[in-house]
Amino acid sequence: MGIRLAVLGSGSAGNATCIEGGGTRILLDAGFSCRELVARLRAVGVDPRRIDALAITHEHADHVRGAALFSKTYRVPIHCTERTARAASLDRQGAYARVPIEPGVAFAIGALALVPFPVPHDAVETVGYVVSCDEGRVGYATDLGHAPEEARRALRGCDLLILESNHDVDLLRSGPYPEVVKQRVLGRHGHLDNETAAEVMCEVASERTTRIVLAHLSRTNNRPDLALLAARRSFESAGRRPPRLHPAEQGTPSPWFEA
Ligand SMILES: [Zn+2]
Ligand SMILES: [Zn+2]
Repeated sequence: MGIRLAVLGSGSAGNATCIEGGGTRILLDAGFSCRELVARLRAVGVDPRRIDALAITHEHADHVRGAALFSKTYRVPIHCTERTARAASLDRQGAYARVPIEPGVAFAIGALALVPFPVPHDAVETVGYVVSCDEGRVGYATDLGHAPEEARRALRGCDLLILESNHDVDLLRSGPYPEVVKQRVLGRHGHLDNETAAEVMCEVASERTTRIVLAHLSRTNNRPDLALLAARRSFESAGRRPPRLHPAEQGTPSPWFEA
């Protein structure tokens, strides 16, 4: 079987994705409570005791909320940068074990190879991940204000891609958020809007890219149909047939997607 993934949920209330390949099973981000992570894993047919490790992108609560307790309960190590570990106080919360990583430096968890790459976001040291095994390659970037060349290079030509499509700029501008929050989201270290996400998807997707999950959709400032439309249009205006596009949900896990 190739590499496969299930997004357990995505959005500002929590992010976590289960990835399996070559007999290894990891969680990318653990932004739900431990209890909720367990329930969502069971909902996609995974016994939480079969998780081999966690890998965290940054210290915001919607990515790290359940990490320490899950690590302690199931005795699995947490892979993240030293600065992220400190900002998330993982040791203080009693994480079972920690493996420090560095942006740009590849590491392995069982049969899976991971490459963390830096992305611009308002946390101490945010990374995205490319996760691969012999059978395929997954790109994951959920919180980024813009997509510099280094991030695009990492995400290019993945079989499966999970990319943030956070907000519709007009909905955000006319929406209820306080001005200072709007500016944060719109900023170079905030979140990707639908149009920018669509442009990035189109640029990094290759013939080999079969599916793209649109992640971290704002409930207040976005709608799945708007995110999908922007993505579809960007492929169509480039004269290409889009890969299968799936908006991730906050409340329910996605089906399994296989490379
Ligand atoms: Zn987030
Ligand atoms: Zn964040």
